[in-house]
Amino acid sequence: MGSDDLVIGSGLAALGAVLGLLAQPDRRVTVLCGPQEGRFLHYDGRALAPCAFLGPGGLGSHWHGVIPTGLRVRPGDISDAEFSLVFRRFYPHADINARIGKPALFVPWRPIRPWAELQQLAAAHGAPRLSLLHEPALNLRQEGNHVHIGTASRKLRTTRCWVAAGALHTPTLLAASFGKRLARGFASDHVVCYLGQLESQPRPDVRYTRNGLYFPAIADARDRALYTLRPARFDFRRLDAGFERRQIFGLPTGTLLVKLMKGLSPGLLAEALYNRLGFFGGSRCHSAYAQIHVRDAYVVREGHSPLLAQPDRIRAASDLVRAAQPFGNLLTSKRPDLYSPGIHLHHTLDAAAMAAEGLDDAAGSVQVLDASALTDIGAEHHSFKTLVSAYARVQRRASGGTLP
Ligand SMILES: Cc1cc2nc3c(=O)[nH]c(=O)nc-3n(C[C@H](O)[C@H](O)[C@H](O)COP(=O)(O)OP(=O)(O)OC[C@H]3O[C@@H](n4cnc5c(N)ncnc54)[C@H](O)[C@@H]3O)c2cc1C
Repeated sequence: MGSDDLVIGSGLAALGAVLGLLAQPDRRVTVLCGPQEGRFLHYDGRALAPCAFLGPGGLGSHWHGVIPTGLRVRPGDISDAEFSLVFRRFYPHADINARIGKPALFVPWRPIRPWAELQQLAAAHGAPRLSLLHEPALNLRQEGNHVHIGTASRKLRTTRCWVAAGALHTPTLLAASFGKRLARGFASDHVVCYLGQLESQPRPDVRYTRNGLYFPAIADARDRALYTLRPARFDFRRLDAGFERRQIFGLPTGTLLVKLMKGLSPGLLAEALYNRLGFFGGSRCHSAYAQIHVRDAYVVREGHSPLLAQPDRIRAASDLVRAAQPFGNLLTSKRPDLYSPGIHLHHTLDAAAMAAEGLDDAAGSVQVLDASALTDIGAEHHSFKTLVSAYARVQRRASGGTLP
């Protein structure tokens, strides 16, 4: 079976590629979505936070949809125009152009769900223009002008192969295909830390639009951290109590409300209502958080629990940010040892080994589109930027077309 373009993965990065490919006339696109029955991998044995999802939509079926607007660090050097074009395809009523370059977080009423989007695109375009296959790729091989992809049940051939299997699965696939040296054995990530409490802050300037909310954020001048304030109500009024609770509660995927009810914490509920709807902004007391970039926060290993935290590296990055935090009158946390994983894994591929295989070549027939090849994502959430970067990479290669 042959196609012009084959995309490996069905998450946010894959969706970006498919949007770029469908903008080009007459290309036949096949997507290898991964297995039909999904499977989570977690950060550790407590299974509180997922680090990968092998299945339709990837982690994009569970993400919160937060999109930063500061764009200080830009994967693939995406331009304002490219970011705005793709953003407006999903959120036409959020006035993005006025926001680009100013640090804030856009929280949509409806996060982008890549699997639903891909299914709609497949229904609208039909095969052979867009075909979705429920199979994982097992290996790739470049031969002449073609790339050969093996799955458990078939052999596929394509002119261009766009790899978007996610920060943990892409290195596994490339290592199986081109040699183990491609996988770095480390992963960088964000960690989220609680800095402490602030009294009598002005009400955060939350802006409502038809498509979602803009929350204020403060960017660190060195792109190490992104600071946010959230209401500290009820049990979260006590210093450290809220963040200690979060360590038990974990990160919600899927049924947020059910999990919140089970969590039975009014402080957590108030914070979640602020995060989703902007409620409780006028609280007298606020919790200050920092999302911090940590290079090589984890060792990557094989198996069901692929990440091994490097606590010393995480603590060192967190201490640096705590020492430089921008708030006056902060009642500082007594638990600097605590953090939550940001689930923004990246930099799992070895750039030199990629170059030696010709896999970093913008004109090559195998291209990596997800965050595994990003060395530094700065302090902002990277996932939507990665989607835009995938779209832009495909488009630049073809130059032109209209976004479907
Ligand atoms: C609860 C939660 C909240 C989050 N909130 C945010 C947020 O607000 N903002 C933000 O920026 N990020 C957020 N994230 C992170 C975000 O979800 C991920 O960064 C993003 O989804 C990664 O997209 P991806 O397409 O690169 O990879 P993935 O989502 O990991 O998708 C990889 C895809 O590849 C497929 N695949 C894997 N191996 C193979 C193979 N061998 N063959 C074929 N297919 C394969 C998988 O099935 C999957 O479809 C959040 C994550 C979680 C869990």
